[in-house]
Amino acid sequence: MEIVFEIINWYKKNYRIMPWRSTNDAYKIWLSEVIMQQTQVVQGTSYYHKFLENYPDIFSLAQASEQEVLKLWQGLGYYSRARNLHKTAKIVCELHNGIFPNDYQSLKKLPGLGDYTCAAILSFAYNLSYPVLDGNVFRFISRLYAIDLPIDEAKNRTVFMNVLNELIKNQNPTLFNNAMMEMGAMVCKFKNPDCQNCPVQPNCLAFKNDLIEQLPVKSKKIKQRTRFFNYFYLLSNDGFLLEKRNQKDIWENLYQLPLFETSKEADKIDLQSFVNELFEIKNVDFFQFKEQFEHKLTHQTIKTKVWIIRNESKNLVKDSQYEIVDRDSYKNLPISTLIEKILLSLHNQL
Ligand code: SF4
Repeated sequence: MEIVFEIINWYKKNYRIMPWRSTNDAYKIWLSEVIMQQTQVVQGTSYYHKFLENYPDIFSLAQASEQEVLKLWQGLGYYSRARNLHKTAKIVCELHNGIFPNDYQSLKKLPGLGDYTCAAILSFAYNLSYPVLDGNVFRFISRLYAIDLPIDEAKNRTVFMNVLNELIKNQNPTLFNNAMMEMGAMVCKFKNPDCQNCPVQPNCLAFKNDLIEQLPVKSKKIKQRTRFFNYFYLLSNDGFLLEKRNQKDIWENLYQLPLFETSKEADKIDLQSFVNELFEIKNVDFFQFKEQFEHKLTHQTIKTKVWIIRNESKNLVKDSQYEIVDRDSYKNLPISTLIEKILLSLHNQL
């Protein structure tokens, strides 16, 4: 097929060297795919190397504790990926002798493995004919064939997959998938696609019909919600308190300062009852740290105030869910980027 020939030809001359492209080791391919989701290549590459240094094979990853894996993941965000990475490593070791299955149904049962990751493992590790469909490929196909169906509606995925299944026929699956993704990432970019140097420009319906700006179509706007966090820095001679987040929410199983979340911006009066709950004696005084923090996630903005309680009088905290850490020992625990930023700022200024 002429279009595919042009795309692969372009890829062979222009591809970027990436460490996971020169291997067919399913463990390394899976690791790179999980890390690279929602991540820039430069940042992802350093985490990829860091993980391989610490866990050179799937058995070493499976034997690590979840806390160690989360700590190594710190700063990459979307921590459910790290928790699923660890769970999957354990399952692959326990049920499949450390070897990723080479069939779609078995792969799909593993935690965190969606259609995209399954296709990536099957094509890149086992050279099976499964097209990958990530955001880059969606955009490229949508423009090339002027498909104006919303790419964020699950039912439309089949339309794009049908196109790809036709294109991948009789091709080397590894080469085809790499070439499609690279075209989307390097040529048919979201902003300012490089149409002048695009090898399929003569066939591109979006280019021909002046539809590039309109494609791909998305139906849903990401709903943003704002949350109001009040973190408490309980400072004593021994250190300060951290707790582990246990609820099904962002940053699950990461450590944080004691938190009281409010439905709107809180002032001292709103927080007095929480502070009373914390201590065995009433009316412990606290004051607001001068700096406020705003942390943006894909669907949430976290507006954060930090409140300081000097606990030198050894007022006892009631709850045993808290751990006392000092300025060095907390660095061994997995924490969010927000908490890292807050603690750096507190320790610089207090
Ligand atoms: Fe994308 Fe432009 Fe190439 Fe069309 S011509 S596929 S819009 S880069």
